[in-house]
Amino acid sequence: MLTVEGLRSRYGRIEVLHGVDLTVHSGEIVTVVGANGAGKTTLLRCLSGVQPVSAGAITFRGEALDRVPAYKRIGRGLAQSPEGRQIFTNLSVEENLRLGAFLFRDERVASDMDDAFAMFPILREKRNLVAGGLSGGQLQMLAIARALMGRPSCLLLDEPSMGLAPILVAQIFDVVRNLKALGVTVLLVEQNAYGALSIADRGYVMETGRIAMEGPAAELIADPKIREAYLGI
Ligand code: ATP
Repeated sequence: MLTVEGLRSRYGRIEVLHGVDLTVHSGEIVTVVGANGAGKTTLLRCLSGVQPVSAGAITFRGEALDRVPAYKRIGRGLAQSPEGRQIFTNLSVEENLRLGAFLFRDERVASDMDDAFAMFPILREKRNLVAGGLSGGQLQMLAIARALMGRPSCLLLDEPSMGLAPILVAQIFDVVRNLKALGVTVLLVEQNAYGALSIADRGYVMETGRIAMEGPAAELIADPKIREAYLGI
């Protein structure tokens, strides 16, 4: 579904992705784990089109994305829930969700919103309140729900567990698992390597702008090097 080949990206003169190769098959949860600063967020931003690519190719559902601007990638079925959630805190919960559906004018928007509220009932309760009043976990739910309003076939999820208490982290990972059951393919970037590998089908370990290891998530989680370096086991 999504293929990345030899991807390079830079901030000014400093290259931070040095030729990344990655594949996501339809229906999978694939995770990219790695330390702070490894380049995971930059990779996702290249995929969604908000970060320039200096070399390499991104193909999504058989189509090269190189010349497709970010807002059109959403229309192709690729949506991102960004690092730090990036919720519009002065808008209501419902307004944030409507922004996720900016491409659509049809009556399905209302039923998509109902689906989002079914997935996250607390958001229905708070639909008319300003999003700035939500807790961290609720903001994360809203960020995921907003991305889903774009009807993605592949969801790019950046650090959904960041800053959340363990019980909320477990809830968010359950949500990701449910998305897979609903047929949404997920590319999940996480510093919480154990949690991410526990729900993923396959994983990639990123180190300073390169893929250092890849494989089935169950194999990575059992690998002694990964257990020591990333899982603290
Ligand atoms: P984190 O989990 O902290 O987000 P990450 O693996 O997602 O880490 P990136 O945020 O992609 O890593 O950062 C990769 C490298 O690029 C780091 O060295 C970082 O300092 C640098 N970097 C990130 N954003 C910028 C920017 N806007 N300008 C300059 N350098 C940047």
